[in-house]
Amino acid sequence: MAIATTNPATGETLKTYEALSPEALEDRLARAAAAAATYRRTSPDERAAWLNAAADVLDEDVDTVAELMTTEMGKTLAAAKAEVAKCAKALRWYAEHGPALLRPEKKDAEAVKAQDAYVVHQPIGVVLAIMPWNFPLWQAMRFAAPALMAGNVGLLKHASNVPQTALYLEELFGKAGFPDDVFQTLLIGSSTIEQVLRDDRVAAATLTGSAPAGQSVASIAGDALKRTVLELGGSDPFIVMPSANLDKAAEVAVTARNQNNGQSCIAAKRFFVHRDVAEEFTRLFTEKIAALTVGDPMDEDTQVGPLATESGRDDVEKYVQDAVDKGATVLTGGKRVDRPGWFYEPTLLSGITPEMDLYFEEVFGPVAALFTVDSLGAAIDIANSHPYGLGANLWSEDEGSGPSSSPTSPPGWRSSTGWSPATRSCPSAGSSRAATDAS
Ligand code: NDP
Repeated sequence: MAIATTNPATGETLKTYEALSPEALEDRLARAAAAAATYRRTSPDERAAWLNAAADVLDEDVDTVAELMTTEMGKTLAAAKAEVAKCAKALRWYAEHGPALLRPEKKDAEAVKAQDAYVVHQPIGVVLAIMPWNFPLWQAMRFAAPALMAGNVGLLKHASNVPQTALYLEELFGKAGFPDDVFQTLLIGSSTIEQVLRDDRVAAATLTGSAPAGQSVASIAGDALKRTVLELGGSDPFIVMPSANLDKAAEVAVTARNQNNGQSCIAAKRFFVHRDVAEEFTRLFTEKIAALTVGDPMDEDTQVGPLATESGRDDVEKYVQDAVDKGATVLTGGKRVDRPGWFYEPTLLSGITPEMDLYFEEVFGPVAALFTVDSLGAAIDIANSHPYGLGANLWSEDEGSGPSSSPTSPPGWRSSTGWSPATRSCPSAGSSRAATDAS
């Protein structure tokens, strides 16, 4: 993938970047290692002051950074501003709590038959962060704020479609007064990650992204005996029981599925509604999705902007087409929007079966899959038969219908298809996102 800013609302490529040359990459790695050797000796209070200063810079830059994110990946400007504010809050949280979190913890020496016992938290060195474009500032900040607080040095390999936000992050920490090279952005393609990850100067890696990318990074890191933290895809279940406040549930369901233009890993994607309230919930859900305003993400009235990439929209389109070809019903949406850019209509599908690719896959776009079930147990069974996790939620005013209710098998569901979660290998070969759920 070219390293470039391409506006998803227009399809126009605005700026392209050369990947770092081997010499430039070597220089940055050397600088990161040198920075790690001295930064680890700074005090938590010093680091906290720099984090607070970074939060202040973000407050000042909110309008320009938000515009940059919207231009690079199409989230609404309002959502982009909220993301900047959330990043500033995280920086301040770690500044406030970091020094206490890092303080050595005294332990019971006698219990381990020692003279003295305590736990200390030491920096591990240079950490490589491989990040996705969907929350371009937040994903990186979620790594950077605690890592820098803990005395580590960051190397950011951001998604190739958000290079300007990636470069802004390096600039931000510089402006905040962090020592030189404590946080650097590497403009490299994903094919160069292995080289960086295997480099002795890099101690650990973290990746947020798709399962295939996670599998690749985990296997290289495993081979090189390096630590990793992975956050991969999700396809959260959203269960609606008869006692739920249906209007509220439908409202939250719409936000969950369509926020960030449908590209949030930890948000509901599969909606299970009890048969007793299926008709009413479906009506509300359909109406509210159909009422969403799709349009230019810079416009303050817009609720849903374009997909971030053309290939992302192609994927969404393929999932919907496959489901429709296999018998799914489109309750609203179901096609691309007739305008430049990578827009796709907020969509609700019912009649989903395990033969459809989207049954097992995470659809990264504004497409909700609706299931009607006869019991909570049936909803939980189907939800758990899926390879993806991350979060889940249940709508009910009846505590008795909570998670303690034991799931029952939905016999009709399985016998009609011959499918069983124990034997179904999923998702199908050739799919763009693999079966492994590392969430
Ligand atoms: P990708 O996994 O393709 O990209 C994410 C990052 O990984 C990018 O920096 C990308 O670089 C890099 N990358 C891509 N392929 C490889 C590889 N083989 N080895 C190492 N790094 C690689 O994700 P998508 O763009 O498809 O983003 C959406 C996915 O990310 C969804 O599945 C979503 O659920 C998941 N995600 C998970 C989140 C979580 O917190 N759990 C949050 C956000 C998204 P490049 O751009 O250069 O290809």
